[in-house]
Amino acid sequence: MSLLSKFETYDARRRELNRIGINPFGVVQERVLSATEAVINGRETILAGTNNYLGLTFDPDCISAAKIALDEQGTGTTGSRMANGTFAEHLALERDLAEFFGRRAAIVFSTGFLANLGILSTLTGRGDVIVLDADCHASIYDGCQLGGAEVIRFRHNDAGDLAKRLRRLGERAADTLVVVEGIYSMLGDSAPLADIVAVKREFGALLLVDEAHSMGVLSARGLAEAAGVEAGVDFITGTFSKSLGATGGFCVSDLPELDSIRVASRAYVFTASLCPSVVASTRAALECVRKRPHLRAQLWRNARDLYARLQGLGFTLGPEPSPVIAVLQAQPEGALAFWAGLLERGVYVNLVLPPATPAGMSLLRCSVSAAHSENQIAAIAAAFGAVRADLETTSAA
Ligand code: PMP
Repeated sequence: MSLLSKFETYDARRRELNRIGINPFGVVQERVLSATEAVINGRETILAGTNNYLGLTFDPDCISAAKIALDEQGTGTTGSRMANGTFAEHLALERDLAEFFGRRAAIVFSTGFLANLGILSTLTGRGDVIVLDADCHASIYDGCQLGGAEVIRFRHNDAGDLAKRLRRLGERAADTLVVVEGIYSMLGDSAPLADIVAVKREFGALLLVDEAHSMGVLSARGLAEAAGVEAGVDFITGTFSKSLGATGGFCVSDLPELDSIRVASRAYVFTASLCPSVVASTRAALECVRKRPHLRAQLWRNARDLYARLQGLGFTLGPEPSPVIAVLQAQPEGALAFWAGLLERGVYVNLVLPPATPAGMSLLRCSVSAAHSENQIAAIAAAFGAVRADLETTSAA
């Protein structure tokens, strides 16, 4: 295979999508109207695939904090944290995060992807073992691979399978890093964290939980807090790009080794630090998560409402009600047509196709926001019903 020939498959797929005039991976929000609406293809569209769980992207407190930071500190830091890119507010955000999670220390990264890449590839290396949930995010897989540790997958959300794999490692189990997520981004199910913590304790392993989709969602701090097992979790990673409505990532831990991980982590050392406005809006968003639990309550009302409506319509959904609601489709082609139909009816969701999905499923992935109105939730469900009817009519004709 030549250097470039491996792209032929991608090219063929792109040409096919261009031919049928649908590109689910090139959607443009021509005008952003609010946390839950944008103009797409010239049409006002309800956004049901943004991960904007608490709707904070348009929160007045977050926006005003960002504006003040812009005026006072400028548009960017133009440097990495180790060089000229550490402002007092980066340290303040790290203190905020450590306090928020009740941990000794926090490190802020420029994205959630970089947080996983930086922590995993520094914490583990050749000769180490990582046992991770098979459905973990790409950033976790890439971080593990970059460090060069041996990677063993256990069956998704199966603490028994985790125990089996740790047992097989013998003495090495005590030196193993176990990695799971809070809420899984594709099917919206949560890890059985109490069981996983019990297993990791039995074998003396370390545990890292990525709370990207569960922080501010399952509780203020995420699944570990909601499950009452924070003391059993050694590292928590996460992102500012979901419930906190910005961009950036972090790791918190009580372990003193975190200080060394910071300076040894290439994903921290060799990239520009977060813009002052992002740091400021993230600090304000953390305050919102802390002080406005009603947002979380509204998010769950909306999530349960949409799940119940879609279930009532007879769709096959992910295993449990959650702000991530996966509508399972039999075939990628059908999923694509359904996704395009929803967009024509003014509803945007995420189309997720194999190989990016667990077990080769095709998914219409909805993410619900506290900012969705009851009418919008009803409209999203109604659009699903209408598109199914449209497609049944077309296939019968
Ligand atoms: N972890 C998980 C579980 C995610 O789903 C994502 C993003 N979808 C990330 C990490 C990466 O976060 P970010 O977008 O901040 O890079």
